[in-house]
Amino acid sequence: MCRAMTKKDELLLIQPCQKCMMAASLGRRDKKATATRLKADLNRTDNSSGVRQLQELLDAVLNPEKPAADTEALDWCKCLIAGGEGFEDFCKTVRSYDNATLCGLVWTANFVAYRCRTCGISPCMSLCAECFNNGDHTGHDFNMFRSQAGGACDCGDSNVMRESGFCRRHRLRTGENVPSIPRDLLLMSEMVLPRFILCIIQYLRDGYIEPDTSTERDLQKVLQQLEPQISFLEELTKMGGAMRTVLTKILTNQQTFKDLSMDAGQSVGQRKRVKLSSNTKDPCIIESLKHKCFLEELLFWTIKYEFPQKMVTFLLNMLPDQDYKITFTKTFVQHYAFIMKTLMKSHESDTMSNRIVHISVQLFSNEELARHVTEECQLLDIMVTVLLYMMESCLIKSELQDEENSRHVVVNCSEALLKNNTYWPLVSDFINILSHQSVAKNFLEDHSLLMLWMSFVSFFQGMNLNKRELNEHVEFESQTYYAAFAAELEACAQPMWGLLTHCKVKETQEYTKTVVRYCLETLQIWFDAIGFIDEPAPNQVTFHLPLHRYYAMFLSKAVKCQGLDLDSLLPDQEMLMKIMVHPLQIQACLSEIHSNMWVRNGLQIKGQAMTYVQSHFCNSMIDPDIYLLQVCASRLDPDYFISSVFERFKVVDLLTMASQHQNAVLDSEQERPMLEGALTFLVILTSLRVHLGMTDDEILRAEMVSQLCMNDRTHSALLDLIPENPNPKSGIVPGSCSFEEMLSAVADFKAPVFEPGGSMQQGMYTPKAEVWEKEFDPIMVVLRTVYRRDVQSAMDRYSAFLKQSGIHTGNPWPPYKERTPLHPCYKGLTKLLHCKTLHIVIFTLLYKIWMDHQNMSEHVLCMVLYLIELGLDNQEPCIEEHCHDSWFPGTNLLSNLHHVINFVRVRVPETAPEVKREAPPSTSTEASSYAQVFSLVAERRRKFQEIINRSNTEATQVVRPKSSSTRWVPPGTPPQLVTEILEIRESMLSLLIKLHQKLSSKQNSLSASWLEDMDTSRHTHGDGITAIERILTKAAMRSCQIKRSIQDICGKVCPPVPPKKNSPTDKKTMDKEERRQRARERQQKLLAEFASRQKSFMETAMDVESPDTEAAMDLGASEVMESEVLYDCVICGQSGPSTEDRPTGLVVLLQASSVLGHRCKSKEAKKLPTSDEEHIYAADTCGVAHDVRLTLMQQFFKDSSCLQSVSIGWDGGVYVQTCGHTLHIDCHKSYMESLRNDQVLQGFSVDKGEFTCPLCRQFANSVLPCRPGRETEAGAWHTPTNKKTFVLVKEVEDLQEKLGPFPTESNLSKEMELVIKDIKNTTQKKYMDYGKNPGSPDNDFLFMYSVARTNLELELVHRGGNLCSGGASAAAKRSCLNQLFHVLAMHMRLYSIDSAYNPWTKLTQLFDMSGFDEKRPEVPMLFRDVPSLLIIFVLTMPQPLRKEHFTCVVKMLYNLQFTQALAALSTKFSPEERQAWSTSGALKKNAANAETSFEVLLSHVISELSKDNSVYKVNAEETLMVSVWSPQSIEFSLQQFCLPFLRLSCLLQHHLYGDNLTSCLEEEEFSSLAVCLGLLSSAPPSNTVHSASCLKWAVSTFDLVSQWCTEVTGLFQMQAEQSLTLLVQEPQWASPRLLQLPDNYNIIFQYYHRKACTACKKVPKDPALCLVCGTFVCLKGVCCKQQGICECVLHSQHCGAATGIFLLINASVIIIIRGHRFCLWGSVYLDAHGEEDRDLRRGKPLFLCEERYRVLEQQWVSHTFDHINKRWGPHYNGL
Ligand SMILES: [Zn+2]
Ligand SMILES: [Zn+2]
Ligand SMILES: [Zn+2]
Ligand SMILES: [Zn+2]
Ligand SMILES: [Zn+2]
Ligand SMILES: [Zn+2]
Ligand SMILES: [Zn+2]
Ligand SMILES: [Zn+2]
Repeated sequence: MCRAMTKKDELLLIQPCQKCMMAASLGRRDKKATATRLKADLNRTDNSSGVRQLQELLDAVLNPEKPAADTEALDWCKCLIAGGEGFEDFCKTVRSYDNATLCGLVWTANFVAYRCRTCGISPCMSLCAECFNNGDHTGHDFNMFRSQAGGACDCGDSNVMRESGFCRRHRLRTGENVPSIPRDLLLMSEMVLPRFILCIIQYLRDGYIEPDTSTERDLQKVLQQLEPQISFLEELTKMGGAMRTVLTKILTNQQTFKDLSMDAGQSVGQRKRVKLSSNTKDPCIIESLKHKCFLEELLFWTIKYEFPQKMVTFLLNMLPDQDYKITFTKTFVQHYAFIMKTLMKSHESDTMSNRIVHISVQLFSNEELARHVTEECQLLDIMVTVLLYMMESCLIKSELQDEENSRHVVVNCSEALLKNNTYWPLVSDFINILSHQSVAKNFLEDHSLLMLWMSFVSFFQGMNLNKRELNEHVEFESQTYYAAFAAELEACAQPMWGLLTHCKVKETQEYTKTVVRYCLETLQIWFDAIGFIDEPAPNQVTFHLPLHRYYAMFLSKAVKCQGLDLDSLLPDQEMLMKIMVHPLQIQACLSEIHSNMWVRNGLQIKGQAMTYVQSHFCNSMIDPDIYLLQVCASRLDPDYFISSVFERFKVVDLLTMASQHQNAVLDSEQERPMLEGALTFLVILTSLRVHLGMTDDEILRAEMVSQLCMNDRTHSALLDLIPENPNPKSGIVPGSCSFEEMLSAVADFKAPVFEPGGSMQQGMYTPKAEVWEKEFDPIMVVLRTVYRRDVQSAMDRYSAFLKQSGIHTGNPWPPYKERTPLHPCYKGLTKLLHCKTLHIVIFTLLYKIWMDHQNMSEHVLCMVLYLIELGLDNQEPCIEEHCHDSWFPGTNLLSNLHHVINFVRVRVPETAPEVKREAPPSTSTEASSYAQVFSLVAERRRKFQEIINRSNTEATQVVRPKSSSTRWVPPGTPPQLVTEILEIRESMLSLLIKLHQKLSSKQNSLSASWLEDMDTSRHTHGDGITAIERILTKAAMRSCQIKRSIQDICGKVCPPVPPKKNSPTDKKTMDKEERRQRARERQQKLLAEFASRQKSFMETAMDVESPDTEAAMDLGASEVMESEVLYDCVICGQSGPSTEDRPTGLVVLLQASSVLGHRCKSKEAKKLPTSDEEHIYAADTCGVAHDVRLTLMQQFFKDSSCLQSVSIGWDGGVYVQTCGHTLHIDCHKSYMESLRNDQVLQGFSVDKGEFTCPLCRQFANSVLPCRPGRETEAGAWHTPTNKKTFVLVKEVEDLQEKLGPFPTESNLSKEMELVIKDIKNTTQKKYMDYGKNPGSPDNDFLFMYSVARTNLELELVHRGGNLCSGGASAAAKRSCLNQLFHVLAMHMRLYSIDSAYNPWTKLTQLFDMSGFDEKRPEVPMLFRDVPSLLIIFVLTMPQPLRKEHFTCVVKMLYNLQFTQALAALSTKFSPEERQAWSTSGALKKNAANAETSFEVLLSHVISELSKDNSVYKVNAEETLMVSVWSPQSIEFSLQQFCLPFLRLSCLLQHHLYGDNLTSCLEEEEFSSLAVCLGLLSSAPPSNTVHSASCLKWAVSTFDLVSQWCTEVTGLFQMQAEQSLTLLVQEPQWASPRLLQLPDNYNIIFQYYHRKACTACKKVPKDPALCLVCGTFVCLKGVCCKQQGICECVLHSQHCGAATGIFLLINASVIIIIRGHRFCLWGSVYLDAHGEEDRDLRRGKPLFLCEERYRVLEQQWVSHTFDHINKRWGPHYNGL
């Protein structure tokens, strides 16, 4: 037997044993027969021989010594399992027994799945697209998402989601009506698969090499070889429930494993095992190696091989089998530690993390299962232990506080483990299982686990310590703070919020108490470990205090939801004092960072500060800190607390009443911002109620209001900015207000608008007026802002609102907002507002502001007033202190307000002005004995000692180390200070009144009677004066004593101390400043003027929407009328005519366009296909129709003649547009030279001649020379004529023969040829060479007159497809047809038409048809395109052309056009009808006006075309015309046929002669145009106009018509159908349209994101869709690249002549490709809130915004992409 071999023997491998050879050859002969026979044998009752034979066969086939890549074994297994059947058939049969009630579809990364928050029980719930679409989720909160780590469909699993969300298929419980499986169907599978799996395991064992001995690649190689086998297993799992059961039984059966693997294990397996176990130290891992079933060993190898995708999918595919799921989960838990160890060692931890989570999320999201493994397998212990174990690997000594002796350890944030988030899968699993109530309970009840967890959290306490750089700038900016914040938020905060959700009711009080207790214990340990006593180490800060935050949040929940008493959870005073220190340090540091005191630490420190306050994380960072400080403040001595704050903010020295002071710790420019910071912090601390009494709804409302006040927000931005905790945004919690309800209560929706030429707005939410009035809370805004400018923005918006609603017109101060009452537990907080220390500070600051001391600001006053007002609103019983040295008699603000301070003792530098002043002699004794001294630091020291002593007397006397107290003395030699006594004699009240006078700059601004009508409500909004008035009113209302004092002070005529505001030096700087200011203003005015000039040009040139009537830019019209045309050069500014020597030119943009070619017959736009059944056919487009026509002509007629009978340029024609600005061509050249030298990146390529108009900045790429001096001919042009028709016809003929004066070589002619070259270079070669002889002049001729045609046709399109709206239009502004025509005509003069073949003669003369037998005749007149003939005639005659000649040409051509109309019409008749019209017309042939009667002419045409090779023969078969033609309908049809020609002629006449276009009704267009062209002398009433009456024949009508008809009927070599095709031209085309899109984006997405490209047959990674033609392409794909050009760019060249509009399927946005550049245009799909969802990140339903789509179409049709979109970049052919 093969397995007898004991080791790898190469020899043996080369020479396999005899038996194997035999078996193999046997197999090759007939596997099928063997399988059938074996199956029959095994089915017998005595199957022993069958079993034996099978074993032998398998021994031979599944030989692990054979190379794994050999697929022979696999073939054998397939054959055997199918039992002789074909494998595909077998699969089908098995599938029909599928009894699965769960979907269980497993997907990998990037798969698009759905999540429904309404249906989900677990937040991880997800559905596959099929199940989602087959379920009913209308009105649910769902979204689509792209899977990051892979997942599985939960449909049918009622543990994870509500049954109402199941899809139709999985709701039906298919299991019940599936027939039971026939016994023998899976018999072979049961026998063969165990061996097959064993074989795979053996390969895995053999292939594994420890990572240290080899590289990664070897693992990959093994996996690659095993790929077919594993894929086969995966395939089996997809065969439905029946096969899954077989597989899972084999995998979990311990006996099978024992039998088989013991056999095999003795040889190969064990060797590996021994090796493994010697390598591992951890006992739990060795234990897990004792595998008891295949599943365990398979999982083991899956881990070792770092989770190969196929293996993962295989293992997950079987999860719908419940027994398997349980066993697998247990196995997974057993291997958990091992998994994490492997993860830590992995080089590709990202991929591995994803794969781990892919599995674990399937297992742990199910509460039942999670609880089961928690109880049976100690899942929680394992997880916490593994987490600890993991973090222990990267600990360092903490340097916080005591650098040398600290015993605390923290994680090192620069370790890969943290930087790469390697711990993420673990933490994610942990959070997942904690979301289950039963599991969380287990955790909270297990005290040792809690202890363990707290020690885990303390690893993050104080991590990423910042030390302030005082001297040098930090060498490199470490980015470790990302890792630190991520770790705290993910590893600490997330589990905390998870636990908190289970501690929300009274019943769970005990849990909270336990957590709080362990928190405090751990904190105490931490304080001891870092050696903390009472003072924080200077210049250090860490933003990471997770222990504090755990403590804070559990406290908050306890008080708010569980009715616990705060005091029962608080530690002693000393501990509170310690707890307060670090959070306070962070607040002070925030202020320091903003005051630029940390600049030397680099930008990253700002990053930390911003992340810390960031509203998205605030609930886990700043909010708990502030709350904890509030708790401390409510319990600690207020004087101690207040002085600590000012000391931490380093502004103690500033709080002196002396005019000068010295600050040992702050530079003077930092004093003001630090003081502002300290006061703002105090205001926040005393006014914020987020955790002190606000309900969740109130919090949500306040958060929303503050975000909206800063800026209008989109729905998604707002959703993102509001923290999830403590208020869930989705409104799942019953009774709480949902996000949406709240939003509609506080905000108005501003629908998305589009500004023409501007940016596209999204739907925005803006605060309601009453919110501005009542709810705007500047304090909340300050708390939530990362940038100072956001506060400014909120204030600006606030003052705009006040102005608009007429409430206040000046510059308002931040409004004061009433607060939610404090929860009784926190009442102590108001003591802060009623303490002497704060009152002294307030008094001092009021005094300093009044005295204009240095470093005071409006902001300081504002905050001081805010504090006073808060104190008035939060009264506190007064505590009288009979202390002599105190400034104030008690602690109550109200009574202290009017307490007068007479003298203050200050220490000032000797240089201060106070020193020289003599103390008033009369009061000197009083002063020296009663002068108040105040030292904040001393105050705090005293209080601290008091508190310590208090607690110490109770405990044993512990001697505090004295070392810490020495730090209070500022280092360095103390400056020379002298003590002075200041006479003050003011109270807070009197200072307030004086400040009022000062602010209003009026003496006695408050009269004594002012208080008579007290109404605080009118003082809500306003400036500082209003604020003071409001405070005084409030104070007076609360106390009559105060009221009296105010009246006293106001009544006194007090000459205010003249504030010595402007010292001479001040004045000097002021003047300088003022001068600078004025200069700046002047400069700005100039700039503004220039900008507005530019802007007005922009507007007139770019306004594509409004058809405004000003025709200033209508150069075509205005120039002709003027006698001398002068041009302004926008470069040199000079004005003058364009001359041969120094020509002037128009700034133009040349672009190739296929817009005309994409027009269809139908006015309805084509629909974008969204299923395999729908298609778009291109055959009916204008471009294709013309191509077909030209090709058909070229088959039968002379090429040169064909090339004159039809226009090209429908696809790839050149469109010329101008911004209307002119410049000297030589000026332009030097301008281009300067652009080339300009090193600044311009976004366009100068090498390609691209530039922007120097005046209006519009994109351009050429200059079209203006023709000089036309004024002399102007008169002659318009002379009305009375010449006879035949005379004019003759004159035209002569003109055509005559060669015009050949242009002399001049600068102008050179420029003209250059622009012709530019035009040719604009489009691709294939759009120019239509002739049979490439490069022949005929091609050039065709191309040139077609350029004129393209521009005329496009202008018609831009005018709306007709000329009813008259002369001026937006389109006219961009038109430069007159100049273009001139340039083309100059060029066309180089060619002459062979006079023998001049169509003019055929149009106006009768001649014998001798040349007819030519092999390739000329194109018959009836086949020719009449507008093309017009353009050819005009362009080839000498310029300028007299108008009489132009009119003559039009008249002659109209005859032809009309005859073509008759011919085309006649083909539409049924034979009978035709006969009838022919007869009736013939009767009138002799009437007087027969030549202008359509009936006669129609009859004549019918009879002529019926001759010989009649075109009517074809029609015979399809004459089922229902309609009967009346004279009216015939007239209408003839007019419609001729109208396009008339329009084109009229437009041309307008541009050549400046004739005005008159506006008219649509039904009058024909007559109006006919009059304009001189075909009719005056307009008859519209219903009586006859198209035939416009005919003017030069020769015998009937003979000429006969001649034209004979040309057609004489074409014997042509088939009648072909003649018919050419005869029936349809000149009417509808306006160009983009494809019609479905309303719901999901319809597009579902069909196209999985659709395979027709070129490469693969599903593109970035699919895109052409919105012009519907072609599906691979954006950026290498798969479809041709000659280095990607498919999207290629398509833009084919489809739009280098312009392409593509919808990116996976992003829902549109990109525009224009030549070598591209831009992101935006999206036409918006969500319910009017927002784009680029890249489908939110995955909410998107709907078509018709307005935006119309704008896109408009830009396409008007060729204005270049002008309107600003952000272009080169695509390097890579799209
Ligand atoms: Zn599904
Ligand atoms: Zn389903
Ligand atoms: Zn749902
Ligand atoms: Zn110039
Ligand atoms: Zn311009
Ligand atoms: Zn296309
Ligand atoms: Zn493709
Ligand atoms: Zn492709």
